[in-house]
Amino acid sequence: MNQHMRPEPVPFIDIAAQRRRLGKTIDEAVARVLAHCQFINGPEVTALEAALAKFSGARHVVSCASGTDALLMVLMAKQVGPGDAVLCPSFTFCATGEAVALTGATPVFVDVDEATFNIDAGSLTRGIATARHRGLKPRAVIPVDLFGQSADHDAIAAIAASEGLFVLDDAAQGFGASYQGRRLGTFGLATATSFFPAKPLGCFGDGGAIFTDDDGLAETLRSIRVHGQGADKYDNVRLGLTGRLDTIQAAVLIEKLKIFEDEIAARNAVAARYSRGLGNLVTVPRLAPGCTSVWAQYTIRLPQGVDRDGFAAALKAQGIPTAIYYTRSMHQQTAYRDFPVADGGLPVSERLSNDVISLPMHAYLDAPTQARIIEAVRGALSA
Ligand SMILES: *Cc1c(COP(=O)(O)O)cnc(C)c1O
Repeated sequence: MNQHMRPEPVPFIDIAAQRRRLGKTIDEAVARVLAHCQFINGPEVTALEAALAKFSGARHVVSCASGTDALLMVLMAKQVGPGDAVLCPSFTFCATGEAVALTGATPVFVDVDEATFNIDAGSLTRGIATARHRGLKPRAVIPVDLFGQSADHDAIAAIAASEGLFVLDDAAQGFGASYQGRRLGTFGLATATSFFPAKPLGCFGDGGAIFTDDDGLAETLRSIRVHGQGADKYDNVRLGLTGRLDTIQAAVLIEKLKIFEDEIAARNAVAARYSRGLGNLVTVPRLAPGCTSVWAQYTIRLPQGVDRDGFAAALKAQGIPTAIYYTRSMHQQTAYRDFPVADGGLPVSERLSNDVISLPMHAYLDAPTQARIIEAVRGALSA
C-alpha cells in the first residue's frame, strides 16, 4: 500500500451489507405496502406482531413508534406518575430514565455489575431504600439488557416480588438474547424493545415493540397507542400517544426477522474472534452463566493508564472507528443530575464511563477485517 494512502475505512455497523443480502425481498415487501396504501395499521403490522410473539414466546406483542415509547406506554398504562420512584441503572442509554421522568415519576439510579455492566442486585436493594427514605413510592424497576446481554432476571424478579415492584425489561439492545434458556420478552410484567436501525433487529427508521403475557395490559397498551381510544373511537378513555409503528417499517421487519437468528449466530462468532484475539490485552466482555448476548456492542475496557482518546485516535488513523457508550452515566448528565442515586453511590458506572470503548460489531464483519482491527488494537496499546 502506498504510504500516502489512508487505509480503507471499516464501517462501525454495516447496514448496507445486510441490505445487499436481503436484496429484492425487502424492495418487494415495501412495494406491496406502496401498492395497498394501508400505511397505518396495515396487514403487515398484525403479521409482524404475530411473528414476534412466536419468536419471543410472549403472549402479546404491541408494536409501537420507538423503544422510548415502548417504555413510556407501559409506565402510562400502569399509571406511574408524580410521587412514584422507578429504579433503573445509570449506565445505560438516556431513554431508560427519560421515559420515567416524562411520566412525572422520579428515576432513582442504581449501579451496575463490574463484569456484566448490568444492574447490580445489591445496589437495586439500596436504591429502593433510598427512594423510601425520600418519601417516594417505589413502583417499578427497569433492568436493561445492556450491549445485548440479558440481565440477571431471577435476582431482579426476587427483589421486585419482595418489594412489590413490577419489572419492565428494557431489551432495546438485547432483543433476541436469552436468559436461562428463555428468550427476552418473557421476563417481568413487560419488555420493551427498539427497532432503531443500529439495534440488533432494526428497521429503516424508528420503531419499537412491547411484549407481555398480561391480557389487560396488552389491551390498555393498544388504546394508549392510539390516543387512549376506547371502544367508541370518538370517546377517548385515557391519555395516549400517536404511538403506532408504520406499516412500511413492519414490512421491513418481517423480512429482517427471517434472518435474525442467523445474524445472531454471526454476531456471536464475531464476538468470539475478538475475545480470542484481545483477551490477553484488554478486559473483554464476559457473559454471566445462563445469559446469552446478541452483541449490540462489543465493549472492551482499557488497562489502567491507557489514554482512551489517544487509543481511539490511533485506531481512527488506521480507518477503524470506535464509539464510547457511555462517556457519562445518566446521573452525570445535566438533565438527570438532580435525581436520586442509590445509597453508596454509583462507583462502577462512573469507572465504566471512564474506561469503556466499543469496537465495530455487526453480523457481516469478516475474519480478515477483524484481524486488521485486532492488529490495530494491539499496535495502539503497544505505542
Ligand atoms: C435505543 C435504546 C432505547 C430507545 O430506543 P429508541 O427506539 O431510540 O427510542 C431505550 N433503551 C436503551 C437501552 C436503548 O439502547
